[in-house]
Amino acid sequence: MAQSKRIKTDVVIIGGGGAGIAAGIEALDQGARALVIEKTAEPGGAAIASGGGCLIVGSPLQEKAGIRDTPDLAFDDWMKWGGPSADAVWARYYIEHTLHDLYHWAERNGVVWVDIKSQEGNSVLRWTRAENSGHGLMTRLIASFRAKGGEILADTAVTGIAREGDRVTGVTARSRDGEIDIAARTVVVATGGFNSNLDMILEVRPELKSGRVLEGSGAGANGDGHKLLRGLGGYFTNLDQIWFYCYATPDYRDPAGRRGLAFRLVPGYIWVNQQGKRFHNEALSGGATGAPALLAQNPRHAWAIADRAMLANMTVADPWYQTGETANRARIEELLENSPFIHKANTLAELAAKTGVDAGAFVETVERYNSAFARGLKNDPDFGKPLGASKPFDTPPYTAIQMFPLARKNFGGVKTDLRCRVLDKHFEPIRGLYAAGEVAGMAGGHINGQNGLEGTMLGPSILSGRVAGGWAAREAGFGEGFVGKANRGCGMVLRERIELSTSPLPKKRFL
Ligand SMILES: Cc1cc2nc3c(=O)[nH]c(=O)nc-3n(C[C@H](O)[C@H](O)[C@H](O)COP(=O)(O)OP(=O)(O)OC[C@H]3O[C@@H](n4cnc5c(N)ncnc54)[C@H](O)[C@@H]3O)c2cc1C
Repeated sequence: MAQSKRIKTDVVIIGGGGAGIAAGIEALDQGARALVIEKTAEPGGAAIASGGGCLIVGSPLQEKAGIRDTPDLAFDDWMKWGGPSADAVWARYYIEHTLHDLYHWAERNGVVWVDIKSQEGNSVLRWTRAENSGHGLMTRLIASFRAKGGEILADTAVTGIAREGDRVTGVTARSRDGEIDIAARTVVVATGGFNSNLDMILEVRPELKSGRVLEGSGAGANGDGHKLLRGLGGYFTNLDQIWFYCYATPDYRDPAGRRGLAFRLVPGYIWVNQQGKRFHNEALSGGATGAPALLAQNPRHAWAIADRAMLANMTVADPWYQTGETANRARIEELLENSPFIHKANTLAELAAKTGVDAGAFVETVERYNSAFARGLKNDPDFGKPLGASKPFDTPPYTAIQMFPLARKNFGGVKTDLRCRVLDKHFEPIRGLYAAGEVAGMAGGHINGQNGLEGTMLGPSILSGRVAGGWAAREAGFGEGFVGKANRGCGMVLRERIELSTSPLPKKRFL
């Protein structure tokens, strides 16, 4: 039998996405050796295909735009939007650390922040985008990790976490060349979510088995880390809280028929259900508004209706159709032409026949919507959609894109303390084991609650990656742990607060 290859390091990190690369940078900055194991051919994870937007409070970009934001205001928005199940301690911790430990830290690692955008649930603009979106953000963080001496083993999947006595001691992995044993002082699990594993989605949401649900995260988001952590006794919370998007259609190139494609920038489109009727204000399209509206339809799908002019700038948030800010128009046209889930017709009646919707109701719906423009209304009279950025349906051919709920982000995950140590069912840390990012519900287990303000997935994944990397390095014998700088106050005071709130049996109390 072939001998497995052996490697030794200080901190081994499973997954080279947003959390894993941030963990690696932090561990290196603390003086430890850091090795990232990535199962796909290239590092980046869902983060590299993402919009690259992070919720950041009190940023120079906000200041420049004359926006006054504070951690208190952001926390208030967060808890109102996320509801009682949001992890208030982690939410506060994240918000307090967005300016120095995310915005400025990323800048020091080469990232350029370029603009801020409005998102549902926020009382001010704070969704802050990196230049060239997730691609720009991750390309620069990966380059920084490598420049500092970090190593990435790509095309290599971790298949097990080794444990001796009560502590973890490394991982086993499989590459094309065979098995690898990696001995490490500490292990960071940063494997992302499970929204590219339909079986796991339906296991936690069995009521959705009755209709089509699309897989919608990165290629490696298959829940591997969840299985590894469960095997070690990690305690999971709120796995059923999945953030769905509604503006998604099946990826007809996927032979398994499971993957979905989220499409955007179709201003003015309307959504109709199989009964041929509108059911929602399409301007409210987020996970807390548009997605529940789609999930409530019977049957559970809808049709996005657009005319030719409305489709001119459509984008598809998937690496095949878009790299960073650059959309591949030829591939988008090919999708519109060839997908069996997309129909085109020169008249509304013909489109109704192709989609099988109730023709009478459908034509009446579109004509009624068009009449709002003729009457000079500012909002549509049925659902209140602002009509400023819209137009009547008047440039055939008309297109109908079939929409199904797409599982994008996992809001629940493994529970950790504020050092990102993985907790067991007694809420005691498993020695040597850390988790960050989406496998930990973005940070701590369930930072968002039931709804996210947006930018609250990538941002907390990167910050919790830093926290995990810092403390994993310290447990491995390097550095001081993650000592951040809050938006207010100084790092030392903050560190004392961490000691108090994360130690399972504190020996001394800080007042
Ligand atoms: C298209 C899209 C757009 C998004 N846009 C935004 C946005 O603008 N703002 C926002 O806040 N959030 C956004 N998100 C969500 C955000 O990108 C993720 O929540 C975030 O990337 C999670 O970071 P992570 O490091 O935990 O996981 P990932 O970035 O997915 O990285 C996990 C990595 O682990 C690897 N891995 C998994 N299993 C193994 C294994 N067994 N062995 C080795 N490696 C393994 C995976 O291949 C992957 O590379 C978006 C998501 C998608 C899919």
